[in-house]
Amino acid sequence: MKRIIFALAALLVALDAGAQSLKILSKEVKQGELLVVRVNPGWQLPTACILVEWKKVGNQEYRLNNYGYAFIGVPLDVRQGKYRIRLVECGRRVMQSRDVDEFEVSSDKFPVTRTGGMSGKSSRPRKIIELRAIKNAFSGINQLQPDLTGGLRYLDPLSSRDVIDPYGRIYLGSRKGHYGVDFRTSIGTSVASVNRGVVVLVANDYSKEGNMVIISHGLGIFAVYMHLSRIDVEQGELIERGRIIGLSGDTGAGVREPHLHFNIKIYKDYIDPLKFIDTINRYLD
Ligand SMILES: [Zn+2]
Repeated sequence: MKRIIFALAALLVALDAGAQSLKILSKEVKQGELLVVRVNPGWQLPTACILVEWKKVGNQEYRLNNYGYAFIGVPLDVRQGKYRIRLVECGRRVMQSRDVDEFEVSSDKFPVTRTGGMSGKSSRPRKIIELRAIKNAFSGINQLQPDLTGGLRYLDPLSSRDVIDPYGRIYLGSRKGHYGVDFRTSIGTSVASVNRGVVVLVANDYSKEGNMVIISHGLGIFAVYMHLSRIDVEQGELIERGRIIGLSGDTGAGVREPHLHFNIKIYKDYIDPLKFIDTINRYLD
């Protein structure tokens, strides 16, 4: 009996040693989608980060939540092909394990429009002070915030998904992508914070965005709400999931009809906000 127990214990040790330190939960992703990586319990150190080698776009480190998940936004403009991930010590690029895993990015077919979308050309010149404030909101310090959501699922910002302009739409005139999603709303519709987080920017009457709120949810994940008619949160405030941050509107130059422009940004990359919510919620409570 003793011998059997010993043999079993030895087998378990061997199995554990053979286990990969990390696992990619979806081997194939498209541009603008969310890639989820799970780090195995023995490797979930507070200093552990997932490093993705995005080739030309550059390397990016992703922190883990309390359950060992890393949420990686696949950039819209990254090339099709295979990319490698490793487990490293955050900020130091030191390998934590020898394991290297790979995933494949395929390109998505995005709908094309000739109209220029919901926000036409702004007649007002861009103010440097506005660009600086937006840059500050997404700064390195805010990117380093730990998970503020407590592992709770993400909500939708509105009670329905009435999409007028989807993510990734390419405007033929400008050759640029649409990095968020536009929801049709009447002016004065309540807009909810999709999760718990810190308000990192309250922007009043910006030339393009109008009244805008940017919230950091930690782990480099930011949510952006534009064209609001009213803002009911303050910069620096910690807000709970579902808190009404303000009312929808049509503020910002060039806005053709009332709508909510909503972005999700992970570190440097704007990804499809609806796919983000649907995918991440599979791994949250
Ligand atoms: Zn938009």
